[in-house]
Parts: sequence; C-alpha cells; structure tokens
Amino acid sequence: MRLVVLGAPGAGKGTQARNLAKHFNSTHISTGELLRQEILNNTGIGASIKELMDKGRLVPDDVVMGLIRDKLAEGRYVLDGYPRTLLQAKTLDELNASLNMPLDRAIYVNVPDGVIAERMSGRLTCPACGALFHAVYYPPKQPHICDNCGGKLIQRDDDKTHTVLNRLKLYHEITEPIIGHYKAQGLLLEVSGVGEMDEITDNIIKALV
Ligand code: AMP
Repeated sequence: MRLVVLGAPGAGKGTQARNLAKHFNSTHISTGELLRQEILNNTGIGASIKELMDKGRLVPDDVVMGLIRDKLAEGRYVLDGYPRTLLQAKTLDELNASLNMPLDRAIYVNVPDGVIAERMSGRLTCPACGALFHAVYYPPKQPHICDNCGGKLIQRDDDKTHTVLNRLKLYHEITEPIIGHYKAQGLLLEVSGVGEMDEITDNIIKALV
C-alpha cells in the first residue's frame, strides 16, 4: 500500500499515519521526524535547517527529498508531512511514475482550525522516539515522561502558540491546494479528524478496503 496522509499541522496525521503503517505493514515516513532527527544528531543538514524549523517555515525541497527518496523506492509506505506544496506533490508524482509505483490513495484528515489551535498548544513530544502526547487529551502515564521509551517530553518550539498560527497560515496558503491536486486524480479520501484517534483510523481502514 502506498498512502499519503494530508492535513493541517495538529490534525493528527502523524498518529493516523503511524496506525495505518502498522495496519498495512508499511513504513511510516514522517518528514518532520526525519528532519528533527538530523537536528538531534547534529548533522550538517540539521544545522542548516534548525532555524527554519523553529520558525515553522518550510525546509528546502531537495533536503527533504534527499531524506526520503530511498524509502519511497522501497514501495510500501505511509507518507506523513510530504508533500507540503503543489511542487512537492508533482515531484512525488514524477518519482512514482519513474518507479512505476503509483500512489493508492491520499487521505485528508480534516479538522477545523479552532480545534487544531487548542490541540497543539498542549502537545508534548518525545525527542528520543518521536511519540506524541497531549497535556489534556492524551496525557502520559507519568507527567513529562514518555510511555514508550522513558524519555523526557518537551513542547516543541514549533508547537508554541505564535508559531502554531504561522504554521496554520502557511498550511492554508501552500499545502491546502494539494487536496485539489489529488481530488482531480481521483485519489482523495476525506475523513473527519475530530474524535477518538483509533476510531478515525478504523474509519479510514474501512474506507480503504
Ligand atoms: P511536521 O512534524 O510534519 O509538523 O513538520 C515539522 C516541520 O518540519 C515543518 O514545520 C517544516 O519546517 C519541516 N517539514 C516537514 N515536512 C516538510 C516538507 N515536506 N517540506 C518542507 N519542510 C518540511
């Protein structure tokens, strides 16, 4: 299965992508996580993108594609965080055409902005393993400690309120047009992203099979 999961930052696309990858035995490719890993590992790429990411701005296309190209070529994935621009969507189309591996579906997780702003301002991330929690909706068992790996949870710089608003604005201007791109190709599956995460996953799986 080759899937793309689309949605505003904070729509829960990371959780959905992770759940779907597990269900379909595919690789979860999160561009945000791969980029954050570069920063954590103090690589040259990490140093060049830290400031952009802290401000919620987009990282250059070639950097992102360089991190995911080989994983895409393996052919079984749930892509999360890419494409983020129409140009990236077209680049992915071209790569998939050259590999003769078309996308199966693009899933759009739709959540109103007001719900997103509330969700993101309480979001907690584990820098060690990438797991996500929420102070109110999905708290860790022990405060500030990751249930998965015991790492110390943080609020990402790009989850702070003014950056969240910036990222939502960027999303509406630059990322939302991708929805029309996949609709025109007959690949779009739109689901509501409001509600229990597991129920939303079930709804997506039912619609896919
Ligand atoms: P995410 O974890 O998907 O919310 O991504 C976090 C940040 O990583 C974004 O705000 C961007 O700075 C960067 N990023 C992730 N995916 C991409 C992409 N496809 N193109 C450019 N920048 C990206």
